[in-house]
Amino acid sequence: MEFETDAIHVGEEPERTKDGDVVSPIHLSTTFAKSTIDKMDDEFVYTRSSNPTRNNLEMKLSSLENSRYALAFSSGSAAQTSLLLALLEKGDHVVAFDDLYGGTKRIFRQVFADFGVESSYVDATDIKNVKKALKDETALVWLESPTNPLLKLSDISKVADLCHEEDIILVVDNTFMSPYFQKPLEMDADVVLHSTTKYLGGHSDSLGGALMTNDEDIYERLAFHQNAVGAVLSPFDSWVVMRGIKTLALRMERHEKNAQGLADWLNEHPKVKNVHYPGLRSHPQHQLAKEQMSGFGGMLSFEIRGTIEDARIFVESLDLFALAESLGGVESLIEIPSFMTHASVPEEDRKGITDTLIRVSVGIENFTDLKKDFEKGFEAVSES
Ligand SMILES: *Cc1c(COP(=O)(O)O)cnc(C)c1O
Repeated sequence: MEFETDAIHVGEEPERTKDGDVVSPIHLSTTFAKSTIDKMDDEFVYTRSSNPTRNNLEMKLSSLENSRYALAFSSGSAAQTSLLLALLEKGDHVVAFDDLYGGTKRIFRQVFADFGVESSYVDATDIKNVKKALKDETALVWLESPTNPLLKLSDISKVADLCHEEDIILVVDNTFMSPYFQKPLEMDADVVLHSTTKYLGGHSDSLGGALMTNDEDIYERLAFHQNAVGAVLSPFDSWVVMRGIKTLALRMERHEKNAQGLADWLNEHPKVKNVHYPGLRSHPQHQLAKEQMSGFGGMLSFEIRGTIEDARIFVESLDLFALAESLGGVESLIEIPSFMTHASVPEEDRKGITDTLIRVSVGIENFTDLKKDFEKGFEAVSES
């Protein structure tokens, strides 16, 4: 079946009979009784190891990325940590895109560095920089594409080829595009990561993470660590994410329409210095964006002309755009990365993340209402 159909039906069927539930129920039980000891190696014994609701979500997640396997975790960060514990060992080296989710860098630098895992950061818009950074010890390359918050792209297929020549695992954080607009496994990435907190859940009401892969050996290692480390998604949150996924296709279309509209408008605005959005023809990698994604997503950032104070007045004077971290929900959010999401990134590697850079997670509200709110923001700046 096609994406939209799978997103609704996969993972619901096992619970569904002609006379039964249309929606699969939430199995809250932490343990499962057996009529005989011989059944102790059944699929469901203890919820950390396996839970019917989480399994249903994992089936749905697999269908979205067309992956053989999917695993759900208690947050995107928990998925990342479990993945690194499963695939790396002391002495290994990681190469990552320099413009990354702040928390991802923090895990590399402030958690895994203590266990002897080194990391380097490069501008992966140019594959030559990735190649130059590889060492004998490099075990993993970590990409986000497009990046957060500057919306820079990396050529996923080319980086995958480079990694596979050297026996290196390529991980792609696909949170920004969601599987609706981009499928990194089909471009030969080895593992895809999602913070389901964002577009997959889609309603800013559930924290979660996911890993997808087609590689059986990698899957076995990830599944072992999912159970051993225990950072699993709860049955309730598994159900909430399943519900969110059913409308993912519709939401992504609307996120994109609103984001493209705002990006086009901001791009012509006299008070705006520059706009970062892959759907703009002026984006330096617009061509690559068209080739490797089937849409441009709902995230954009722009630099307002003026001072830090002007950026503050703008974001604080809006009514519809909540001044908040996170992204990917139905409601529009706005933030200043240098003060908020990227405050933990050291000053020297905030290339391009200036104090007047504003990041927007464009929601699915009415476009005219969103634009009017931004007009109000620019007026407030003019009047100050
Ligand atoms: C939010 C986010 C994460 C971390 O996910 P949590 O669910 O907050 O732990 C990782 N990568 C990206 C791109 C994100 O936006």
